[in-house]
Amino acid sequence: MPKRVFSIKSWKTAGVTALAITAVSAALGAGGGWSERDDDEREPRRRAKNVIFFVGDGMGVSTVTAARVYSVGVGGQLVVDQLPYTALSKTFSADSITPDSAPTMTAMMTGVNTNQSVIGFGEGTEPNDFNRDGDGEKPWTLLEMAKQRGMRVGVVSTAEITHATPAATYSHINQRNNQNDIALQALPTAETYNERLGKGVDVLLGGGRRHFVPTTVTDEEGDRGSRTDGRDLRSEFQGAGYRYVWNKAGFDALTPGQGPVLGLFERSHMEFDYDRPRDLGGEPSLKDMTIKAIELLKGSKRRSDGYFLQVEAGRIDHAHHAGNAYRALTDMQALDEAIGAAAQMVDLRDTLIIVSADHSHVFTIAGYPMRPLEELPYAVTSYSPGYATAGQAGHGIFDVVYDLNQATGVVEESTDRNGVPYTVLGYQNGPGYRGGARVDPRLDGFAGLGGVVPGGPADPAYLQEAAVPTVGAETHAGEDVAIYAIGPGAERVRGTVKNTHIFFTMKKALGF
Ligand SMILES: [Zn+2]
Repeated sequence: MPKRVFSIKSWKTAGVTALAITAVSAALGAGGGWSERDDDEREPRRRAKNVIFFVGDGMGVSTVTAARVYSVGVGGQLVVDQLPYTALSKTFSADSITPDSAPTMTAMMTGVNTNQSVIGFGEGTEPNDFNRDGDGEKPWTLLEMAKQRGMRVGVVSTAEITHATPAATYSHINQRNNQNDIALQALPTAETYNERLGKGVDVLLGGGRRHFVPTTVTDEEGDRGSRTDGRDLRSEFQGAGYRYVWNKAGFDALTPGQGPVLGLFERSHMEFDYDRPRDLGGEPSLKDMTIKAIELLKGSKRRSDGYFLQVEAGRIDHAHHAGNAYRALTDMQALDEAIGAAAQMVDLRDTLIIVSADHSHVFTIAGYPMRPLEELPYAVTSYSPGYATAGQAGHGIFDVVYDLNQATGVVEESTDRNGVPYTVLGYQNGPGYRGGARVDPRLDGFAGLGGVVPGGPADPAYLQEAAVPTVGAETHAGEDVAIYAIGPGAERVRGTVKNTHIFFTMKKALGF
């Protein structure tokens, strides 16, 4: 492929005309609306037969950078770093600067921007229909469109399979929290079934069993369900032709060509990747689920009709909300491995892989932390004992900040105005707020995840410090996130775009 040259000439011929730019400004002026309109007229160079759409929930750019340092070192390359096309994606919702996952995934799946907590409706639909004017039109999701065209479709998440991100692929509801109702929209025999799904979503793998089990029933791992209508959707899905599995053994036994699959591996969200080995029933990894989903969707026939697969790393977000960078980065690493496995498995001449996030988090990489000792281009005079060496797990990303005293050549702790060290990673708000005077993070007795007092900032239980004591969880952040892509149509991923651009890019790649 010839190298792309970005000149004024190519800019002018790229379909981003002055007219289009004016139209965009006008649309924004009229109340921030962004309805079903592609802001990029270019057609893909080639058509894709399959599309795999990965979402790192809450995977802001700082998360990607920190996960890179943690996994492969500051100069290393994650799988996402190696995807050739990237863009910046604006995540605002119709009613908020900083969004939640419901409007953003709706935007990415339907091309229509909407309001906080709303799934699969446009901006005329308020959360809970609080003004009682009824819900509006339901835009089609890319998954529904794919199903209608005879493709197989799959949804994979480490979060509850009825959680906002996966739900926005197959359901329409004015309140994301009504997860018991969302589950029914995927059940082909239910009165409220989403008929656009034809015979049903072919592969559903994730957590959230409680929304399929009544409150009166104990599930396979000894937990009560959350359904107040007494219905056991595990058996109802089986009655509708689904194979149902709940643990790693059942998952491993799944083979293509025997009908649709429902896999629910945890009562609530699946375990964080770090905690997965301790799970009672055993859970597949995100990579395991991605590989399995591709196998199932391709089917056993020699010629497949194409598939659309959505894979969500749902718990990067949850770890950040808990103020625990360790699990956010290890879950991001698990996502990167899943993307790598998919990229190796498919033919990238006929399969578009696109990766993005629904929103960012108030998570930062602070100070001027030095690279590990062996990576330095000069010899230092001496260094503090805790300073990272290249082999050290995390490459220093979980340490306090060590900086060079340029007068003496000594690597020493960076300190705040009271002489107290601080960590590289931190949050603008959340559960990690300490209160009172700061203490050395390495001696800090502040209880971490699960009430455990961690042995320093590199401990998996450590909660990074937060500046603002929010009442509950740490919050999302409003800056743009990245889109990464490879395969047919990936060349449309460039520039700074609204997240709806992802929908149009996938749609055009498939020729819909
Ligand atoms: Zn979140």
